Amino acid sequence: MIKGYAAYNAKEELKSFSYEYTNLKPKEVKIKVSHCGICHSDLHLINNDWMMSRYPFIPGHEVAGEVVEIGSDVTELRKGDRVGLGWQAGSCHSCEDCNSGNENLCSSAAATCVGRNGGYAEYVISDSRFAITLPYELESKYAGPLMCGGVTVFSPLRRNNITEGKRVAVIGIGGLGHMALQFANKMGAEVTAISTSLSKKAEAESFGAHNFIVSTTENAFDSYANKFDLIINTIFAPMDWGSLVNTLRSNGNLCFLGAPPEPVSVSAFSLLMKQRQVSGSVIGSPEMIKDMLRFSAKHNVRPVIEVMPMANVNEALKRVAENKVRYRMVLEN
Ligand SMILES: [Zn+2]
Ligand SMILES: [Zn+2]
Repeated sequence: MIKGYAAYNAKEELKSFSYEYTNLKPKEVKIKVSHCGICHSDLHLINNDWMMSRYPFIPGHEVAGEVVEIGSDVTELRKGDRVGLGWQAGSCHSCEDCNSGNENLCSSAAATCVGRNGGYAEYVISDSRFAITLPYELESKYAGPLMCGGVTVFSPLRRNNITEGKRVAVIGIGGLGHMALQFANKMGAEVTAISTSLSKKAEAESFGAHNFIVSTTENAFDSYANKFDLIINTIFAPMDWGSLVNTLRSNGNLCFLGAPPEPVSVSAFSLLMKQRQVSGSVIGSPEMIKDMLRFSAKHNVRPVIEVMPMANVNEALKRVAENKVRYRMVLEN
């Protein structure tokens, strides 16, 4: 029996839950959870905001723990290995996306806590290829948030070849944004934080921002024409996307990690005259996660976390829902 905390109905507190899992599939591993971060996606699943939740289920997809059992065909992991598991716990391994190293884009991808039970538990089961070995230097309590939020911001930085001399802007200084600022800074970029509130300035600078823009001031972006190689949007609120596109340098990219509810409206003319792009990005492949973990270990990138015992999961979820956590909540077994 695997014990954990499950949502039984939308918008209700989690309650104790256990499920049977006896036979691992050949490529599966069983992970003893030491830590599991709380991501806003967990709240959306608990509340059935995406109309895809099936109850009861155990949420949680920012796992760190130890491999305690392996399936008969698992070659890349051994019992005792310390691993992280993020949003994705499986893929088909045979489609075009999987075969080109884009497993995160697989149409048959399995999400760790959608239609299966996740990490607010003693154990979690995963396809071994999505359980990624943690570098020695990286403490388990920091690994969970990196596995989901971390790779989500790292991937567009890597794919846009952010290095010294590049200029990166990050919209939103929260759970994702505070890691994006650190990664961009450690990659050598000039980093600008964009926030609705001046009160975030000192903290943004502590994470590596060199510049700060208050997005709500009038004509906030007027003096930033042709400035950024990459703008990463981590928020859901609508913004003046047209003005933001004009802050992109030639070949620059405005990349959405958060999805505003309304369609994004920009002038095609301002795109084509500077070969600018508007794009999206979602989590990262296992290879990208490995790259991100190595980078985090080497450059000392760590999420800022608040740790609470797993038994206090409902109190922890409430703090996340009320946006009281700076910046990422982690449950500890
Ligand atoms: Zn997440
Ligand atoms: Zn696939």
